[in-house]
Amino acid sequence: MDTIIQKVNKDSFREEELEKACEILRSGGLVAFPTETVYGLGGDALSQEAAKKIYEAKGRPSDNPLIIHIADIDNLYDVAEQVSGKATALAEAFWPGPLTMIFPKAEKVPLSTTGGLNTVAVRMPIHPVAAALIRRSGIYIAAPSANASGRPSPTKAEHVIEDMDGRIHMVLDGGQVGIGIESTIVDMTEDIPVILRPGYITKEKIEKVIGAVEIDPAVIANEPKKDLIAKAPGMKYRHYAPKGQMTIVEGDQEKVVAAINSLVQEKEGEGRRTAVIATEESKRFYRCKKVYCIGSRKNEGSIAAGLYDILRQMDHIGAEYIYAESFVEDTLGQAIMNRMLKAAGYNRISV
Ligand code: AMP
Ligand code: MG
Repeated sequence: MDTIIQKVNKDSFREEELEKACEILRSGGLVAFPTETVYGLGGDALSQEAAKKIYEAKGRPSDNPLIIHIADIDNLYDVAEQVSGKATALAEAFWPGPLTMIFPKAEKVPLSTTGGLNTVAVRMPIHPVAAALIRRSGIYIAAPSANASGRPSPTKAEHVIEDMDGRIHMVLDGGQVGIGIESTIVDMTEDIPVILRPGYITKEKIEKVIGAVEIDPAVIANEPKKDLIAKAPGMKYRHYAPKGQMTIVEGDQEKVVAAINSLVQEKEGEGRRTAVIATEESKRFYRCKKVYCIGSRKNEGSIAAGLYDILRQMDHIGAEYIYAESFVEDTLGQAIMNRMLKAAGYNRISV
């Protein structure tokens, strides 16, 4: 199939420009579109066939559920059940925005959308193109990230095309996304809600609205543990991973720089291709031909936004050994480190 690539200026588009994409979605086809977090791969959330096509296009295991995207808070009551007062409060505080909530699913939501679970994940995006697409198509859009299964999530249309060209009907190219890591997922089926995937909406922000929440122990584990089964099925897979072997080095900046420089020297001496993932503050201290700046430590948002593009670039340059600095695991840093550890297969050293 030929994939249509359509540019949409997120600040100045007319809704009619989205009509072709809406037609594709209404007739059961797939359209990748920008959201504020990452690009999503959209299909009709209430159609079993569309859900199957999404799994096929991504090469995704069929037990890994999709997130349903809605354009209006009222739609939540149509796809989910037992929406608690806490959930309503979170929706009012953070929707539209990068927060996904899990509820018991409504009858009409097919099991093929929820990966066979009786629960459903729902989110209302704030990106103008995503919101207009859902509203105008008149359907709920099931959308996981628009990457091939296991690869870093796409933060630019080019990333989607890299993975999905010829596999889906259309890509709406709205440029680079703002946040760059996936939505925070909160399981609202427990009395004390549980964060299953950290994201831009941090634990602190959520607790300000509804009081105590927990974090799924599988999320904060320093390594995958057999007895800790992630409640968000997607979190159990190796993910976001570049092809090379990635190591996260943590400690004081000076020591980290020295350790990475010596690892680079050792591997280059063996004729291996190395790369370093550094920050604005440290990049000039590395002695490696390929030093990539992920963003500034003064602005964690810039680091989240730059992460997946850099992980993809590691593959483009054929890096065999990748050394990355680490980040403090609080607020947004928790989401960043969660993704980086998974990319590194939990391979980290302290110096
Ligand atoms: P993606 O948008 O690609 O990050 O995929 C959506 C992710 O949401 C999945 O990988 C799951 O980890 C999570 N998810 C979706 N639905 C549920 C659910 N019903 N229960 C727990 N986690 C879910
Ligand atoms: Mg994903």
